[in-house]
Amino acid sequence: MRVDIISIFPEYFAPLDVSLMGKARDRGILDIHLHQLRDWTHDVHRTVDDTPYGGGPGMVMKPEVWGEAIDAVIAEALAGGADAAGPSVPGAGEARADLGVPGEAGDEAAHEGLLLPRMIVPTPSGRPFTQEVALEYAKEPWLLFAPARYEGIDSRVMAEYGSRLRVDEVSIGDYVLAGGEAAVLVMVEAVGRLLPGVLGNAASVADDSFAPGAMENLLEGPVYTKPPSWRGHDVPEILLSGHHGKIARWRRDEALRRTAAKRPELLARLDPEGLDKRDRQV
Ligand code: SAM
Repeated sequence: MRVDIISIFPEYFAPLDVSLMGKARDRGILDIHLHQLRDWTHDVHRTVDDTPYGGGPGMVMKPEVWGEAIDAVIAEALAGGADAAGPSVPGAGEARADLGVPGEAGDEAAHEGLLLPRMIVPTPSGRPFTQEVALEYAKEPWLLFAPARYEGIDSRVMAEYGSRLRVDEVSIGDYVLAGGEAAVLVMVEAVGRLLPGVLGNAASVADDSFAPGAMENLLEGPVYTKPPSWRGHDVPEILLSGHHGKIARWRRDEALRRTAAKRPELLARLDPEGLDKRDRQV
């Protein structure tokens, strides 16, 4: 997967060199490109913001600089796909001549979502980011993140690219961060760990909280490791029994109990068809 991130703080993304994401990058599974938004300004102060129309506090990010940056990043990636041998944009080589950059000859293809990134704009007023959305993004070959600062990006940028690309405004929760960079880190990690080959044991994704299938709308229950007793706290007997069927049942009971206690609103979303008699008793 190719990931482009345009930000006034590209250095914020250093954690993507560490741990699972760092390994995914080393193995070429995640191909992350960081871009300094200010590189597309034209004044000595490298200005990216201006006062809001209609008045009010704070500043708004200027559309011209974002427009130039997004156009250039896409064009550069497509050019790399055509010319470079390394990981880049799947399919870009053969289609580049027709596609061009958004707004040129490629508009038709762009509308069909061919070989162009899915653009993700973090904002508290966006679509909630969930495991389902992470799974959806994990299927994309190319994501382009546009994290803002100040009061956000001039809305015309989303309108403009919404007619050329698939643009999602996404919120990572009902609170307000100082900028979109932390939200991008959250999303890249949630998506990145779902890519084939990133996790040592791919089966662990299926057991995660919110995973589609048996865990959909459920929180994972408690987990334990050795020793069997620690400071007077014992591991539940059943987990030491070696009885796989009973252990699976216990885990499901615990997931149901924990969800009922901590996120009761999720229980209402459980598919009644998927519940057995025992589930209903928990
Ligand atoms: N005035 C904006 C509002 O109330 O919606 C908040 C702006 S916030 C200070 C600056 C930037 O941080 C946002 O444009 C967005 O990129 C990012 N951000 C803040 N909270 C976020 C959240 N919960 N999810 C995603 N991005 C967020």
